[in-house]
Amino acid sequence: MNKLKVKWIGQSGYLLNDGMTEICIDPYLSNVVDRIAKRGRMVEAPFLPDELKSDVVICTHNHLDHVDIDAIPLMKKDNMLFLAPSDAKNQLFECGVINFKSFDEGTTVKIGDFELKAVFADHTVPAVGVIVKNNGITMYFSGDTEYNEKLEELKEYNIDIMFICINGKLGNMNVEEAVKLTKIINPKVGVPTHYGMFESNTENPENYTSKLNCGFEMEYNAEYDVLEVLRNV
Ligand SMILES: [Zn+2]
Repeated sequence: MNKLKVKWIGQSGYLLNDGMTEICIDPYLSNVVDRIAKRGRMVEAPFLPDELKSDVVICTHNHLDHVDIDAIPLMKKDNMLFLAPSDAKNQLFECGVINFKSFDEGTTVKIGDFELKAVFADHTVPAVGVIVKNNGITMYFSGDTEYNEKLEELKEYNIDIMFICINGKLGNMNVEEAVKLTKIINPKVGVPTHYGMFESNTENPENYTSKLNCGFEMEYNAEYDVLEVLRNV
Protein backbone atom coordinates (compact mmCIF):
# COMPACT_ATOMS: atom_id res chain seq x y z
CA MET A 1 0.00 0.00 0.00
CA ASN A 2 1.33 3.39 -0.94
CA LYS A 3 1.69 5.82 1.93
CA LEU A 4 3.56 8.50 0.06
CA LYS A 5 3.25 11.86 1.82
CA VAL A 6 4.34 15.25 0.55
CA LYS A 7 4.84 18.42 2.56
CA TRP A 8 5.67 21.89 1.20
CA ILE A 9 8.24 23.48 3.50
CA GLY A 10 8.44 26.81 1.68
CA GLN A 11 10.02 28.27 -1.47
CA SER A 12 11.09 25.16 -3.51
CA GLY A 13 11.35 22.96 -0.44
CA TYR A 14 9.48 19.63 -0.18
CA LEU A 15 9.60 16.58 2.06
CA LEU A 16 8.60 13.26 0.50
CA ASN A 17 8.10 10.29 2.78
CA ASP A 18 6.80 6.81 1.92
CA GLY A 19 6.99 5.46 5.45
CA MET A 20 10.44 3.98 4.93
CA THR A 21 12.53 6.61 3.20
CA GLU A 22 12.45 10.40 3.33
CA ILE A 23 13.65 12.67 0.55
CA CYS A 24 14.05 16.42 1.06
CA ILE A 25 14.27 18.78 -1.89
CA ASP A 26 15.72 22.30 -1.57
CA PRO A 27 15.21 22.96 2.17
CA TYR A 28 15.47 26.67 3.02
CA LEU A 29 15.46 26.72 6.81
CA SER A 30 17.57 29.74 7.81
CA ASN A 31 17.44 33.45 7.04
CA VAL A 32 20.70 33.51 5.09
CA VAL A 33 19.20 35.38 2.12
CA ASP A 34 18.45 38.23 4.53
CA ARG A 35 21.95 38.10 6.00
CA ILE A 36 23.62 38.22 2.59
CA ALA A 37 21.11 39.89 0.25
CA LYS A 38 18.78 41.74 2.65
CA ARG A 39 15.71 39.74 1.70
CA GLY A 40 13.95 38.44 4.80
CA ARG A 41 11.66 35.43 5.09
CA MET A 42 7.88 36.01 4.84
CA VAL A 43 7.18 32.81 6.82
CA GLU A 44 8.93 31.18 9.77
CA ALA A 45 11.07 28.15 9.04
CA PRO A 46 8.88 25.04 9.54
CA PHE A 47 11.46 23.32 11.77
CA LEU A 48 15.07 23.66 12.89
CA PRO A 49 17.87 22.37 10.64
CA ASP A 50 18.94 19.75 13.20
CA GLU A 51 15.38 18.34 13.20
CA LEU A 52 15.64 17.27 9.56
CA LYS A 53 15.71 13.45 9.42
CA SER A 54 15.81 12.85 5.67
CA ASP A 55 17.86 10.08 4.09
CA VAL A 56 18.53 12.18 1.00
CA VAL A 57 18.74 15.96 0.55
CA ILE A 58 18.61 17.23 -3.02
CA CYS A 59 19.87 20.73 -3.77
CA THR A 60 18.82 21.58 -7.31
CA HIS A 61 21.46 24.33 -7.71
CA ASN A 62 23.92 26.48 -5.85
CA HIS A 63 21.79 29.44 -4.79
CA LEU A 64 21.17 30.33 -1.16
CA ASP A 65 17.47 29.38 -1.13
CA HIS A 66 18.45 25.90 -2.41
CA VAL A 67 21.91 25.42 -0.87
CA ASP A 68 21.25 26.98 2.52
CA ILE A 69 24.76 27.66 3.84
CA ASP A 70 23.50 28.71 7.27
CA ALA A 71 21.23 25.66 7.81
CA ILE A 72 23.25 22.81 6.27
CA PRO A 73 26.14 23.11 8.79
CA LEU A 74 23.57 22.57 11.58
CA MET A 75 21.94 19.48 10.04
CA LYS A 76 22.70 16.01 11.40
CA LYS A 77 24.45 14.89 8.24
CA ASP A 78 26.22 11.63 9.18
CA ASN A 79 23.65 9.44 7.42
CA MET A 80 22.36 11.98 4.90
CA LEU A 81 23.19 11.69 1.23
CA PHE A 82 23.39 15.06 -0.53
CA LEU A 83 22.65 15.18 -4.25
CA ALA A 84 23.40 18.32 -6.24
CA PRO A 85 24.91 19.44 -9.54
CA SER A 86 28.74 19.03 -9.50
CA ASP A 87 28.95 22.81 -9.50
CA ALA A 88 27.61 22.89 -5.91
CA LYS A 89 29.99 20.22 -4.55
CA ASN A 90 32.62 22.50 -3.00
CA GLN A 91 30.01 24.71 -1.39
CA LEU A 92 28.38 21.66 0.21
CA PHE A 93 31.70 20.31 1.47
CA GLU A 94 32.36 23.72 3.04
CA CYS A 95 29.04 23.28 4.87
CA GLY A 96 30.34 20.01 6.37
CA VAL A 97 28.58 17.60 4.02
CA ILE A 98 30.20 14.15 4.19
CA ASN A 99 28.17 12.08 1.73
CA PHE A 100 27.86 13.75 -1.64
CA LYS A 101 26.95 12.42 -5.07
CA SER A 102 26.93 14.51 -8.23
CA PHE A 103 23.41 14.91 -9.54
CA ASP A 104 23.82 16.36 -13.01
CA GLU A 105 21.27 16.10 -15.82
CA GLY A 106 20.68 12.43 -16.69
CA THR A 107 21.85 11.01 -13.33
CA THR A 108 19.53 8.48 -11.68
CA VAL A 109 19.77 7.51 -7.99
CA LYS A 110 17.73 4.74 -6.37
CA ILE A 111 17.14 4.69 -2.64
CA GLY A 112 14.51 2.52 -0.97
CA ASP A 113 11.46 2.60 -3.23
CA PHE A 114 12.40 6.00 -4.64
CA GLU A 115 13.96 6.59 -8.03
CA LEU A 116 15.35 10.11 -8.42
CA LYS A 117 16.41 11.44 -11.80
CA ALA A 118 18.04 14.79 -12.54
CA VAL A 119 16.49 16.44 -15.59
CA PHE A 120 17.03 19.56 -17.63
CA ALA A 121 16.64 23.05 -16.16
CA ASP A 122 17.61 26.41 -17.65
CA HIS A 123 18.74 28.71 -14.87
CA THR A 124 21.44 31.34 -14.22
CA VAL A 125 23.80 28.68 -12.80
CA PRO A 126 24.03 24.89 -13.48
CA ALA A 127 20.70 23.53 -12.22
CA VAL A 128 18.47 20.49 -12.49
CA GLY A 129 14.84 19.57 -12.12
CA VAL A 130 13.97 16.24 -10.51
CA ILE A 131 11.74 13.37 -11.61
CA VAL A 132 10.72 11.31 -8.58
CA LYS A 133 9.16 7.85 -8.97
CA ASN A 134 7.71 5.96 -6.04
CA ASN A 135 5.30 3.03 -6.12
CA GLY A 136 3.87 3.82 -9.54
CA ILE A 137 3.57 7.59 -8.98
CA THR A 138 5.69 10.01 -10.99
CA MET A 139 6.36 13.53 -9.79
CA TYR A 140 8.32 16.38 -11.36
CA PHE A 141 9.96 19.18 -9.38
CA SER A 142 11.11 21.95 -11.69
CA GLY A 143 13.64 23.58 -9.38
CA ASP A 144 14.48 27.04 -10.71
CA THR A 145 14.15 27.29 -14.47
CA GLU A 146 13.27 29.63 -17.27
CA TYR A 147 10.77 28.44 -19.85
CA ASN A 148 12.61 26.39 -22.45
CA GLU A 149 11.18 24.13 -25.16
CA LYS A 150 13.35 21.27 -23.85
CA LEU A 151 11.09 21.19 -20.78
CA GLU A 152 8.20 20.16 -23.04
CA GLU A 153 9.98 16.80 -23.57
CA LEU A 154 9.23 15.94 -19.92
CA LYS A 155 5.74 15.04 -21.15
CA GLU A 156 7.23 11.63 -22.02
CA TYR A 157 7.50 10.76 -18.33
CA ASN A 158 3.69 10.66 -17.90
CA ILE A 159 3.89 12.90 -14.85
CA ASP A 160 1.16 12.55 -12.24
CA ILE A 161 2.03 15.64 -10.19
CA MET A 162 4.28 18.52 -11.21
CA PHE A 163 5.63 21.23 -8.92
CA ILE A 164 6.46 24.26 -10.99
CA CYS A 165 8.12 27.62 -10.26
CA ILE A 166 5.89 30.59 -11.03
CA ASN A 167 7.71 33.68 -9.73
CA GLY A 168 8.95 35.05 -13.08
CA LYS A 169 12.15 36.63 -11.80
CA LEU A 170 15.85 35.90 -11.32
CA GLY A 171 16.00 33.12 -13.91
CA ASN A 172 12.53 31.62 -13.43
CA MET A 173 9.53 31.32 -15.71
CA ASN A 174 6.52 33.48 -14.95
CA VAL A 175 3.05 32.27 -14.10
CA GLU A 176 1.77 32.39 -17.71
CA GLU A 177 4.70 30.27 -18.86
CA ALA A 178 4.14 27.85 -15.97
CA VAL A 179 0.49 27.47 -17.05
CA LYS A 180 1.58 26.89 -20.66
CA LEU A 181 4.14 24.24 -19.66
CA THR A 182 1.62 22.52 -17.39
CA LYS A 183 -0.89 22.28 -20.23
CA ILE A 184 1.77 20.71 -22.46
CA ILE A 185 3.07 18.24 -19.86
CA ASN A 186 -0.55 17.51 -18.90
CA PRO A 187 -0.13 16.10 -15.36
CA LYS A 188 -3.06 14.99 -13.23
CA VAL A 189 -2.13 17.73 -10.74
CA GLY A 190 -0.09 20.93 -11.11
CA VAL A 191 1.23 22.61 -7.96
CA PRO A 192 2.60 26.19 -8.07
CA THR A 193 5.83 26.68 -6.15
CA HIS A 194 8.76 29.03 -5.44
CA TYR A 195 6.62 31.89 -4.07
CA GLY A 196 5.64 33.27 -0.67
CA MET A 197 9.17 33.47 0.78
CA PHE A 198 10.56 36.86 -0.30
CA GLU A 199 8.38 39.94 -0.73
CA SER A 200 10.36 41.20 -3.73
CA ASN A 201 10.17 37.85 -5.51
CA THR A 202 6.76 36.24 -5.14
CA GLU A 203 3.54 35.61 -7.07
CA ASN A 204 -0.09 34.89 -6.27
CA PRO A 205 -0.57 31.10 -6.69
CA GLU A 206 -4.20 31.66 -7.74
CA ASN A 207 -2.88 33.19 -10.95
CA TYR A 208 -1.74 29.63 -11.71
CA THR A 209 -4.43 27.44 -10.17
CA SER A 210 -7.36 29.48 -11.55
CA LYS A 211 -6.20 28.92 -15.14
CA LEU A 212 -5.95 25.14 -14.90
CA ASN A 213 -8.39 22.36 -14.14
CA CYS A 214 -5.53 20.44 -12.53
CA GLY A 215 -4.16 23.34 -10.42
CA PHE A 216 -3.75 22.57 -6.74
CA GLU A 217 -2.35 24.91 -4.09
CA MET A 218 -0.60 23.23 -1.17
CA GLU A 219 -0.65 24.96 2.19
CA TYR A 220 2.64 25.84 3.76
CA ASN A 221 3.92 23.10 6.08
CA ALA A 222 0.83 20.91 5.73
CA GLU A 223 1.24 17.22 4.94
CA TYR A 224 -0.67 15.66 2.06
CA ASP A 225 -1.29 12.05 1.17
CA VAL A 226 -0.28 11.91 -2.48
CA LEU A 227 -3.01 9.41 -3.42
CA GLU A 228 -5.63 11.70 -1.82
CA VAL A 229 -4.33 14.66 -3.81
CA LEU A 230 -4.52 12.65 -7.01
CA ARG A 231 -8.07 11.57 -6.17
CA ASN A 232 -9.39 14.99 -5.22
CA VAL A 233 -8.30 17.24 -8.07
ZN1 LIG B 1 15.25 29.78 -5.95
